[in-house]
Amino acid sequence: MVDSNAYITVKLGLERQVVPYPVVFYLPDLPPEKVFAHLDTFTVPDDPYIFMPVPSNHDPTLAPAGGQLVIAGTAAPSGASEELCNAILDRVYARVRDLFPRIESAILWQSRSTSSDTRRLTAHKAGECIGLAQVPGQVGSERLGHGTPVEGLMLVGSDVGARGIGTEIASGSALSLAGLLAGA
Ligand SMILES: Cc1cc2nc3c(=O)[nH]c(=O)nc-3n(C[C@H](O)[C@H](O)[C@H](O)COP(=O)(O)OP(=O)(O)OC[C@H]3O[C@@H](n4cnc5c(N)ncnc54)[C@H](O)[C@@H]3O)c2cc1C
Repeated sequence: MVDSNAYITVKLGLERQVVPYPVVFYLPDLPPEKVFAHLDTFTVPDDPYIFMPVPSNHDPTLAPAGGQLVIAGTAAPSGASEELCNAILDRVYARVRDLFPRIESAILWQSRSTSSDTRRLTAHKAGECIGLAQVPGQVGSERLGHGTPVEGLMLVGSDVGARGIGTEIASGSALSLAGLLAGA
């Protein structure tokens, strides 16, 4: 089966509020089929797609008073090396500074998360973001179910038995398994 992609981030702690939005989606000016082409070629995109939530704009307690927490992330190939992840994140960081020129002077600290962090936390072997990919042949009625050929062994999590986004698909899977076990 096919893995999902990795999701890698640059996190910025800012001493003041720079980004006024709850979340920023940056799409490079490319034909849609080119935006994620680097995921197949294991290369560094010139201009990466960026998904940049600003958690402290939802909950100010997530940063010291007046400060801001920004998380700029992008997709990387499943199984990407540390070197490739960091090269992609260099481009993300450069684009974020272009988009928000006042950000650099406000940075108190920054950190990164790469595939190896996801591997360490989740035991997903390729550092993939949600487990099995949501691609034709692995979604809807063709997504794996909870049951296995081993009696009493059931599967649960993003990989099986539900649909939706990341945490939504994982909790949907748990609810579906609970219903199954309860005979609902
Ligand atoms: C960087 C990143 C950002 C993300 N951002 C978002 C987001 O913004 N929104 C969203 O909805 N989703 C997001 N996701 C996806 C979301 O985190 C996953 O889809 C979800 O956590 C999967 O849940 P799960 O229960 O299937 O697996 P996991 O959350 O991976 O949980 C599996 C657990 O099993 C443990 N485990 C593994 N092997 C063993 C073992 N042998 N013995 C005991 N324990 C074991 C692991 O340590 C882990 O705690 C993100 C994922 C990543 C990596």
